[in-house]
Amino acid sequence: MSDCQARVPESTNIWQFCVVLPNAKIGENCNICSHCFIENKAVIGNNVTIKNGVQIWDGVTLEDDVFVGSNVSFTNDRYPHAKNAAWQLTPTVVKRGASIGAGSTILCGVTIGENAMIGFLSLHDVTAMHAAEIHEAARRVIDSGWYLQGKENETFECHYANYIGTEHCIGCANGLDALIWIFRAYIELGVMQPGDEVIVPANTFIATILAITENGLTPVLVEPRRETLEMDDLHIEAAITPRTKAICIVHLYGRCAMTEKIADLCNRYNLKLIEDNAQAHGCMWKGKRTGSIGDAAGHSFYPGKNLGALGDAGAVTTNDAELATAIRALANYGSQQKYVFRYAGRNSRLDELQAAILDVKLKYLDEDIKRRQEVAAYYYDHIANPLIELPARLPDTSNVYHLFPVLVKDGKRDALQAYLAANGVGTVIHYPIPPHQQECYAHAPWNNPQLRLPITESLATSELSLPISPCMTHEQVKYVVTQINKFND
Ligand SMILES: *Cc1c(COP(=O)(O)O)cnc(C)c1O
Repeated sequence: MSDCQARVPESTNIWQFCVVLPNAKIGENCNICSHCFIENKAVIGNNVTIKNGVQIWDGVTLEDDVFVGSNVSFTNDRYPHAKNAAWQLTPTVVKRGASIGAGSTILCGVTIGENAMIGFLSLHDVTAMHAAEIHEAARRVIDSGWYLQGKENETFECHYANYIGTEHCIGCANGLDALIWIFRAYIELGVMQPGDEVIVPANTFIATILAITENGLTPVLVEPRRETLEMDDLHIEAAITPRTKAICIVHLYGRCAMTEKIADLCNRYNLKLIEDNAQAHGCMWKGKRTGSIGDAAGHSFYPGKNLGALGDAGAVTTNDAELATAIRALANYGSQQKYVFRYAGRNSRLDELQAAILDVKLKYLDEDIKRRQEVAAYYYDHIANPLIELPARLPDTSNVYHLFPVLVKDGKRDALQAYLAANGVGTVIHYPIPPHQQECYAHAPWNNPQLRLPITESLATSELSLPISPCMTHEQVKYVVTQINKFND
């Protein structure tokens, strides 16, 4: 306990290694964690929590019930210089009930609104939900002395295959590799050849397209529907040629992209159906989980995904035993037997630490999805602003709300984003530049510089993703809606 405890109310706790200057005003029932520094002209209300390593400088006011995450930085000088510069104190006010996520920087002169939240997604909070079990799993692996290709992979692969509903799950290094290995394995097995075509949505994260081009295959981009944001199945048949070998659907934003029409086209034209399930673990189509409805699926466990590791991780799920065997070899230098190499593979394995952590988090995935669906339901029921279009609402089984995209009309997207940021709501654009307009594909033989994809391009300038996560409180969700409904630019 710090020796400055005497200067603050007894109901307030100040933990070790804090410095509190004598004239700082600190209210009742606060909790100030270790390594904080509080200056004389700081004002802190009642019931305030300040996590480790935060400095509250002169001129910073935190009203009642404010939460400040660890290592948040405040600045109180408008033009900070190293030394001897003209000092210009500019006050910062954090209004009652606001939460500031770990690691945020709050510039001086800013007022953060009542009950505001800062940050789009706090991975700190996501991990904290199951911290004890995650620490325990990590400790088990650390102490085991076995870090690759062991029991943890076996257990997680088995549990994840059961969850998705496939015979096989092969852990690998990340979601991009998972998709790369699917196409590469089809090439190794003679099912596809470089130059073959893969039909894919034009509006997707670049990794979907990279997995195709990395293998020398040709992506054939198909426009989405503006209402669903998913590939428009009415345009697929016209894109099929004798070289088409697969349709790759992407369950973007956590929305199911599968349709009867796509199933029918795959059957009639004998095409492989590959799912990019990076954003949709747990989503369903006709009673089956996405990731089990096609021939093979790539999953990402990037930390921000619905099922996220504490680093990079991914997996392939499939019912095709031959494909599974090839993928397992490819991701392990191309080897099925130690020091014998069947393919020129790469090292792309899931490590034991991540597998153990994922196995903990998998148990809570359905609960987390339910919470996301509650947040989404509140958004659907309460967002009412003529400038904002909500995507068609799917039944909850078909949307696990990895993201909550809205479309902003009249070129007001960037204005809305700036307005929300000024009011303490973090948002992200998914995605500002579509793949066909990326520099990496400027000279790709399949990409005509004149190619116009008007729907995809308009999504890139009108899409905005609102905060959604299993850790959002009801107050926070309400606050986001109130701010959005007030926006009229
Ligand atoms: C995240 C993501 C990927 C790639 O996953 P990584 O694990 O980040 O490599 C692929 N496709 C989509 C749609 C994604 O969102």
